[in-house]
Amino acid sequence: MNDIMTLHHQYISDTYKKIPLQIESGKGSVLYDLDGRSYIDLSSGIGVNCFGVADFRWKSAVNAQLQNMQHCSNIVYSEPCVLLAKLLCEKTGMKKVFFSNSGAEANECAVKAARKYSAQRKGADFYTIITLDNSFHGRTISMLAATGQELYHRLYNPLTPGFVSVPINDVLLKKTVNEVHPAAVMIECIQGEGGVIPLDYEFVKKVDKICKQKDIPLIVDEVQTGNGRTGKLYSYMHFDIKPDIVSTAKGLGGGLPIGATLFGEKLQDIFEPGDHGSTFGANPVCCAGALSVVERLDDDLMAQVQQKSKWIFDALQHSPGIEKVTGMGLMIGIHTSRSVESIITECLNQGVICLTAKRNIRLLPALNIPFELLKQGISILKNVCS
Ligand SMILES: *Cc1c(COP(=O)(O)O)cnc(C)c1O
Repeated sequence: MNDIMTLHHQYISDTYKKIPLQIESGKGSVLYDLDGRSYIDLSSGIGVNCFGVADFRWKSAVNAQLQNMQHCSNIVYSEPCVLLAKLLCEKTGMKKVFFSNSGAEANECAVKAARKYSAQRKGADFYTIITLDNSFHGRTISMLAATGQELYHRLYNPLTPGFVSVPINDVLLKKTVNEVHPAAVMIECIQGEGGVIPLDYEFVKKVDKICKQKDIPLIVDEVQTGNGRTGKLYSYMHFDIKPDIVSTAKGLGGGLPIGATLFGEKLQDIFEPGDHGSTFGANPVCCAGALSVVERLDDDLMAQVQQKSKWIFDALQHSPGIEKVTGMGLMIGIHTSRSVESIITECLNQGVICLTAKRNIRLLPALNIPFELLKQGISILKNVCS
């Protein structure tokens, strides 16, 4: 092991299972290690660098804001967060935005808003957040409670009360809604960390209907699926529904930390001064980067994402060693015959970086990955799987 790898394990809390690769730099969807060896990046820093590394337009937007002012408090007005919120609302039909720094925080804000809404409307006992089995909503103690996977709960009990997860089944969801005094239902339209599992169209429609009938806020967690990842601006747009709250992060900032919670008509005025806050939230540099990202998520780019997606599905489906390909857009899950660990390692040896999600290979390449590079990467992955 080199010095940094040794020092890492000496000084950094070991929360991640690492791959033996030290990245030095990159350009677009190509990353370089210490020795200058190049890698095709099919991970984009877990769906964060949505225009790759060191993208010119993104860097220009961030640099310009950085030269101007790196931070100001939320008790004063500033332009970047307003322009970003306005654009997000114009593109989604949502009405207001709260900015934070991560996906978990965007979800925490969503839960607070839904709790306040339901408490005011129906009474303080309407506090339960209903989530789905196999979901993932983040790492705070409350978002662990929201996450419907026992694996993440072990040893961290007691978690925040007031969360219950149900199977992906509308009859059971309806039953739970009638039993628990819900404050909100929270779903991912494609379960990311859960293995890249898209929900059924009909199921999502029914969830939306149940929520509308009972005036229960529907929260869609778009932390991973948002910002063009699935070939539409937000994944709920594939399902013809109108969520009351949308949370997002990961790709939004194009590489800088930012979370956003978007409120629809029903909850737009739920918060008053003092209800919520975040010191770093709405940071102007992060917002300037995010604005330059969201400006580029147009129909043309979405069509390219869908085109690349179709090409990946066609290339990998029914290929030897590949049992199933799931996902939407450039969020792809691959169920393989061989163990994912051996595939990740072999891909790395051949210069391709992939991710895993549970027992699946997961791909989250940059939205603008050049077609030739994508083909090269997928062809190596396909060989390794066989
Ligand atoms: C990554 C992720 C989160 C957590 O985001 P952080 O920025 O790591 O807090 C929450 N929900 C979903 C669906 C995610 O994929």
